Amino acid sequence: MVGGGVEPARRSASGLGAPSAATARCRARTSVGYNKTVTEATAAPALGRLAIRAGRAFDGRSAISGGALVLCADGQIVGVEPAGSAPPDGWPVAEFPGGTVLPGMIDCHVHLCGDSQHGALDRLAGYDDDELGQVIEAALRAQLAAGVTAVRDLGDRRGTVLDWRRRVTAGRAGFPSPAIVASGPPITTPGGHCWYMGGEAAGPEELRAAVRDRAERGADVIKIMASGGLLTAGTDVLACQYRPEQLRAVVEEAHAAGLPVTAHAHGLPAVIQAAGAGADGIEHCSCLTEHGIEVPEDLLERLAANRVIVCPTMGRIPGGTPSPAALALEQRTGATWEGRLAMVGQLHRAGVTMVSGVDAGISEVKPHGILALAVADLVVSGIPAADALASATSLAADACGLDGRKGWLRAGYDADLVVVDGDPLTDIRALAAVSAVYLNGQPS
Ligand SMILES: [Zn+2]
Repeated sequence: MVGGGVEPARRSASGLGAPSAATARCRARTSVGYNKTVTEATAAPALGRLAIRAGRAFDGRSAISGGALVLCADGQIVGVEPAGSAPPDGWPVAEFPGGTVLPGMIDCHVHLCGDSQHGALDRLAGYDDDELGQVIEAALRAQLAAGVTAVRDLGDRRGTVLDWRRRVTAGRAGFPSPAIVASGPPITTPGGHCWYMGGEAAGPEELRAAVRDRAERGADVIKIMASGGLLTAGTDVLACQYRPEQLRAVVEEAHAAGLPVTAHAHGLPAVIQAAGAGADGIEHCSCLTEHGIEVPEDLLERLAANRVIVCPTMGRIPGGTPSPAALALEQRTGATWEGRLAMVGQLHRAGVTMVSGVDAGISEVKPHGILALAVADLVVSGIPAADALASATSLAADACGLDGRKGWLRAGYDADLVVVDGDPLTDIRALAAVSAVYLNGQPS
């Protein structure tokens, strides 16, 4: 069950708070008819018709040779034609001869309550509801400006994102918002990782009740903290938080409610435990030991055979200062960023399904709106560009329960699209050069 969509409302492109380079590109588009498109779309009934023509196209799995003319009507893709096709009579056309059109991207690991500054999670408890609403809105705007048209929130404060989504779905967002898939507060041990989000639970009965509570509140996925975390003092990143039977109880109860489970796991024992308990997904999957990163062969086989979806949470602003906790962990284990990249390549070669998510919002080096950097890191780790792009589109949609609606350039799918300058299949950095974003067929 997924209650992802929120109704978009129209607003000016300047409301995005886009960086100046993006503004410059917006102006440039005027010369190829973009401005005309906006004017006509404004005059047309809501969720009207629009054709988007780009010199290159990626369908969610591979390139469409020669580009495409994507026809959008009433918020849906109604046709994907060769780029040279004539649009239907009277349809406005947005032209991107040097661009690539892709399905809107999906960031599979965000914290919309995180304000993208150092200590973001520590500040959660201090925000009042209005302030937190502003943080959530800023996060969604930054994501959309970066071509992200859906997010999976894997940890909010006491259900704030679930509540916010319910309000927004009733038509009161006041701005176009990416679709939201959300877990509510992560389930964690008393005093465990992110305990301050309000999801503490211990013992099988309490854990099962925690799952049922989230299901009743409309959560789309259950998030459980299988290991400690770097950003919560007093927790051990390398240690398991729960016993195996406790994790199994959570998975059983979630599956009975029709919900998938994804487990936060840094330490190798927690990764093994989550895979053994039947978790559908693993976040971070850092496979950390006291002696660095270790990925046993039988674990690789199990993750691949059971189709466990790994979100390695790559992507960071380069040149940032690691937190003291991160430096201490590096010293303790010898694990490095380069080691993580190598591990990600190893997972891919073993056939493990991977999706892209940033862990966005938790710090200055992991702000909202940098999913393109997480995808680029997959390419750096040796993953082919088409597979890396799929990790943020078609595979991400599957992971988020949005399959059949999002993640593909196909007739019948939501008209959530991003156009970037250049060709990300030959230079993945192009993914960050966003020219235009369409949400439900509307320019954003
Ligand atoms: Zn997280």
